[in-house]
Amino acid sequence: MPVPTVVISSRGEERQRSGHPWIYRSDLLEADAAAGDRVLVRSRRGRTLGSALYSDRSQIALRMLTDGETPASDELIVQRIEAAIGFRDTLNIDATAYRLVHGEGDRLPSLVIDYYGDSHGDDQRDGHGGRTADRSGGYVVVQAQSQGMDRLTPVVVSYLQDRLRPRGILARNDSRARLLEGLDRQVEVLAGHVPDTVDVRELGVAYDVDLRHGQKTGLFLDQRENRAAAALYAHGRLLDCFSYHGGFALALAHRCRNTIAIDISADAVARLGANAQRNGRIVDAREGNVFDELRAFERAGERFDTIVLDPPAFAKNKASLEKAVTGYKDINLRALKLLDKNGILISCSCSYHVSEALLAEIVYDAAVDARVHVTVVEKRMQGRDHPVLLGVPETYYLKCLVLRRID
Ligand code: SAH
Repeated sequence: MPVPTVVISSRGEERQRSGHPWIYRSDLLEADAAAGDRVLVRSRRGRTLGSALYSDRSQIALRMLTDGETPASDELIVQRIEAAIGFRDTLNIDATAYRLVHGEGDRLPSLVIDYYGDSHGDDQRDGHGGRTADRSGGYVVVQAQSQGMDRLTPVVVSYLQDRLRPRGILARNDSRARLLEGLDRQVEVLAGHVPDTVDVRELGVAYDVDLRHGQKTGLFLDQRENRAAAALYAHGRLLDCFSYHGGFALALAHRCRNTIAIDISADAVARLGANAQRNGRIVDAREGNVFDELRAFERAGERFDTIVLDPPAFAKNKASLEKAVTGYKDINLRALKLLDKNGILISCSCSYHVSEALLAEIVYDAAVDARVHVTVVEKRMQGRDHPVLLGVPETYYLKCLVLRRID
């Protein structure tokens, strides 16, 4: 059998040389390959540039796995997962749930693997730098977002079973990315057993997580370190906007005089309420549209000392960027107007189209309009278990500014 081969244009070659793992369909000259194949990538002159996962549907036709002659074997995939997990073991993460593999950021393009350790399970720490010695008490969630990774799933699952021996492995293959690949969307147990809810602990807060239906793979794991950072500044009256299950509200509430959390989803508000009760934290969780509620607070003359803005990605693509900027500006402006003297604003964006510089500019515009002076106390990003691949802006999606109003 000849090895499936794809020939790319000189523009594609330049991109490959720059280290970007995505080669677009418009840069393919020849493709002698089938959906999801691992292919050899060649230059027009016949030089082997590397190997990649091939998609016959997506605009991202190739996802580079190796450079030069290095073959993209099953062993290589497994070694990369091993290395990714080994790195998480060194991070001293203060949570039983975290990301083990972050796609492109671990050179495993289009593969996400999250771990949810059950607090009631036998997830142990050995007391030496917080290494997680045993993951047999937890559950693993896998997302394969391309045809190639979908085909590699059995290799991934068999390795995870051997290495981690989790109680269950769930495929959360219901993301929209799969539609672009012509793959079906489904949620299925791939190994063992997965309960309706898993009992997870993060920063000393216990959460009931629904791995099958929760957003992302259950929780927003990428904000853990920003929650911890925000807790250092939180004081007085706290307003958590776009609160979901209470990630920020619950990590900050005990440092504040009182806490209001707002989310548009009734389910999210209900779960936040239950999580608050479990943890003995008092949170006034309200269902509402943040855009309206911020205006209502302003009309009522309310003030807050700490405000968190963690909206969903307003800019899902470049075309919606302008509208998104208006949205970010609006909530930041309203929030700054509600902020009391010396108040802290935690302003996040998870749209990769909105760069850190752009977010800072938006907040600055909002500050000028609100007639307040604001200092940047910290510039933060997604947690260390979601590493950014340099040169690949798509992997730097979450920005988080810690700001302080000064007089
Ligand atoms: N801060 C959360 C994650 C937020 S995810 C955490 O730390 O875990 C974004 C949330 O915004 C979702 O729960 C979604 O239901 C909510 N949302 C989206 N649009 C909204 C709106 N206009 N008003 C209020 N909530 C909204």
